[in-house]
Amino acid sequence: MADRRDIGPTLRAIAKMVRESKDPRATALAELKDVEEGNPFRILIGTILSQRTRDEQTSKASEMLFRKFKTPQQLARAKPSEVTKLIKSVGFYNMKTKAVIAASKKLIEDFGGVVPSDMDSLLTIPSVGRKTANCVLVYGFDMPAIPVDTHVHRISNRLGIVNTKTPEETEKELVKKVPKRYWLELNDLFVRFGQTTCKPIGPKCGQCTITARCKYYREVVKPKLLASA
Ligand code: SF4
Repeated sequence: MADRRDIGPTLRAIAKMVRESKDPRATALAELKDVEEGNPFRILIGTILSQRTRDEQTSKASEMLFRKFKTPQQLARAKPSEVTKLIKSVGFYNMKTKAVIAASKKLIEDFGGVVPSDMDSLLTIPSVGRKTANCVLVYGFDMPAIPVDTHVHRISNRLGIVNTKTPEETEKELVKKVPKRYWLELNDLFVRFGQTTCKPIGPKCGQCTITARCKYYREVVKPKLLASA
């Protein structure tokens, strides 16, 4: 089982697989971080847009939205119909229109138009749960945190780093088990690994270089291979 001592080599092997994959794209949030130079407001809004949405759609909607509305003040005053038109490429665009406007208003009312950099304050913003708040800390402020989305949850369990039922439990366990120096890179690496190799359905275990470290491979994949040999 992967543990505190061997997470470093596991992450390095994952990084190599991602680099060498046919589709070594950056994730939408990493891309946003680069393009927006870690602007916490845009990371916050981009993360809300990214909920249950593919990366390409998130990037497209963020670009369109920020071309027109650059600050919390501008977005708080925006007409919902205008925002909806710009973010129509993302799923649940009506709900997200309300969410990004409400989040901008909250930033102005309670935080002087500045995104706070602590978990408790972030959680008071509408539509911000732990995953979004952790994304803002990592991608907006370069602060060590572990955003747990479906990829991070699934891969951490498959590898056997954690044995959990929900992303919230996974975050608690990862924080205990993964040394802090790896927190900043973990989300981006696992999301890209989940998109390219350790997919939700049909993980490409035949191309994976960490089978020896993977509980799912040992307990599910290998017995099936042996049975069919
Ligand atoms: S061996 Fe398969 S399940 Fe395990 S990490 Fe690699 S791709 Fe994922």
